[in-house]
Amino acid sequence: MESRNPSFFEQTLPDFPALLSGNPSPEEVEACLQLRGEKAEALRRAAHETKMKTVGDKVYLRALVEYSNICRKNCFYCGIRSGNPEVRRYAVGRKEVLEAARFAHQAGFGSMVLQSGERQDEAFVAEIESLVEAIVQQSGGELGITLSLGEQKAETYARWRKAGALRYLLRIETSSTELYARLHPVDHDFRTRLDCLKALRDTGYQVGSGIMIGLPFQTTLQIAKDLLFLRELDVDMVGMGPYIEHPKTPLWAYRGQIPSWQGRYDLSMNAWAVLRLLMPDINIASTTAIGSLHPKGREEALYVAANVIMPNLTPFSERKEYFLYEHKLCIEESHEDSRENIERIIRAAGCRPGYFEQGNSLRFRNR
Ligand code: SAM
Ligand code: SF4
Repeated sequence: MESRNPSFFEQTLPDFPALLSGNPSPEEVEACLQLRGEKAEALRRAAHETKMKTVGDKVYLRALVEYSNICRKNCFYCGIRSGNPEVRRYAVGRKEVLEAARFAHQAGFGSMVLQSGERQDEAFVAEIESLVEAIVQQSGGELGITLSLGEQKAETYARWRKAGALRYLLRIETSSTELYARLHPVDHDFRTRLDCLKALRDTGYQVGSGIMIGLPFQTTLQIAKDLLFLRELDVDMVGMGPYIEHPKTPLWAYRGQIPSWQGRYDLSMNAWAVLRLLMPDINIASTTAIGSLHPKGREEALYVAANVIMPNLTPFSERKEYFLYEHKLCIEESHEDSRENIERIIRAAGCRPGYFEQGNSLRFRNR
């Protein structure tokens, strides 16, 4: 498709669904991301309408347990990186994980997410395998399980899949190899991440990925390319959100070079809208990071594009140690993720909670 001059946005509003469901150029996507005011509202409304027509008004609940902050990696943006000596390291006990799973099942949260710092040792791999089996057994197979445990060997992914995990979330963070290299130490390789995503697909998982928005050295054009890359990867679900700085990380030094909180908020909302129009039938999460930027962030993301929310069920004693970035939601407000509050957020977005449903990705089901 011939690339149009993005200045056409200034004269007239394009038909966003037609533009973005076709074959838009990165510059056209970039122009959408840059919209503000009434034009941004029109973009977000178009995404909302598309969401209602495809995945509908149900929002699926995934109880999140931040299983451990022990990590062998040293990503330059992350507060629990191995190089931060000020973190008190923990792993949630087996009993507590199973209690959270029981609570989630009884409360009607159809799924559970186990997220953690990255470990590849056999003790960790075996413990996750056994936890997944126990959760499946305890819930009679009713609770869907998503894992977000970083890069692993294909055999490990296969073991956890066999144990009963259905979905796996591994963000690319960015699709630019140059930017990836600036965000990570030399031994963290973008190619490995892509290989992991391929292994996950081959193993039969519903595959999720995502990016951070508003990173130092990142351009809006790069975010446009990232969104198109996620479509090329043909992911079943996306978890993305704004980058938020953390004082004990190398990227803190560049905090003067990132968009303001409002800037990152606007960019993120437009990115959600664009993604829903690019990939109408995937699952998209309304993530903690957007709720940390703005009290209405998760609600607005649900209105615009998202159909998944992840109430935090990490035990309170550990929650404050999973401190990825400043002002992280649910560390400060203990009742923010109560069942009542999550239901209020969903309804305020004009949606309804999909209680007692696993809410598997429509794209995956149609594949
Ligand atoms: N260790 C696993 C991994 O990296 O895939 C899972 C846990 S990791 C904490 C989950 C996600 O947190 C990362 O993919 C990254 O996008 C996000 N994250 C880390 N630091 C962040 C920050 N400062 N701001 C926003 N998101 C951040
Ligand atoms: Fe570890 Fe994940 Fe944080 Fe990287 S983003 S340091 S892999 S927890």
